[in-house]
Amino acid sequence: MRPCQGDLRYNKVVYALRCTKKLLARVGPPSTVVEPTTTTLGDWFAQPLALGQRRFILLAAEHSRLPVLMPARNAKHLAQTFPQELVTVLDRLQIPMEAIEREIGEMRECVIAATNNRSVLGTLNDFSFLLRTMMERGAGDDPFDKALSLCDTPVGPLGYDTPARVTARLLAEALKHATRSVAQRAITTAGAPAVAEPASGRKQVTQAAEQRGKQAARRTANTWITDMRHFLDEAGRIPDDLPGPAFGVAAFIGSIVTWVTSSRGVADLRTNVACRWSPARRPCTGIIEAGLAGDGETILWHCPVCGDKGQVRGWEGTPWDRRRK
Ligand SMILES: [Zn+2]
Repeated sequence: MRPCQGDLRYNKVVYALRCTKKLLARVGPPSTVVEPTTTTLGDWFAQPLALGQRRFILLAAEHSRLPVLMPARNAKHLAQTFPQELVTVLDRLQIPMEAIEREIGEMRECVIAATNNRSVLGTLNDFSFLLRTMMERGAGDDPFDKALSLCDTPVGPLGYDTPARVTARLLAEALKHATRSVAQRAITTAGAPAVAEPASGRKQVTQAAEQRGKQAARRTANTWITDMRHFLDEAGRIPDDLPGPAFGVAAFIGSIVTWVTSSRGVADLRTNVACRWSPARRPCTGIIEAGLAGDGETILWHCPVCGDKGQVRGWEGTPWDRRRK
């Protein structure tokens, strides 16, 4: 992760792996300074679990009590290997990839800590008991499949809702919120927009335009992937029914394309485009740096302050392309 020069309190995304004493002996000493967790599912609580001869680590999420079972051989590198295990479980629960990537993207920094919540430890103990019982009954069964079935177990502290349902709900809400704030940050910035403001009294947003906005910008693992062609109509123009969020993103990315393809952009990576990111409504002070990748087709951009970054394609011949024709 790029070192952050901005306000650390607001730019940092962090969560804690809270291990029981027994597990801490193998994972490493706990950190004494634990910052507030910024992930949607909260901290993860972990304890060792023996099923017959086999050794595992069982984890549960603070907010949704989602259980994740891992082989114990990964204990030493728990912080590095856990996110991938979580992806597998979320994928099997059919959580949309966009929501998974968002949560995993927020888990870039992790501290090892002691446990601090008896309720979550109680859930872990319940899950451990259930898993042991299930494995004793069906000796040849796959323990990971059994752990997955725990996701549909009603949990008292969730109001007898299930970890699977609560996880899906929390991640969907977080994704919706993130999409909204991204749209806001793209629209409400001071950078020079490459496209004109839409006429007032905008037409109703058509479904095609809505779809276009969704296709145009998507985020994978903290990188914005943008295809400028999706912002345009069949005639290659910016349609006036482009929905607000998509319009804001088009203005932001369009400004970057304009810089990179102009004569100034060839000489200078530092653009005239301000970063759009405002963690906790405090605007990032970064100025976007951008340039053409070696393939001559991809424009790469990033913010040197908050680390937000993206790739742009399909910009050739669009209204933002300023190369001499
Ligand atoms: Zn920034």
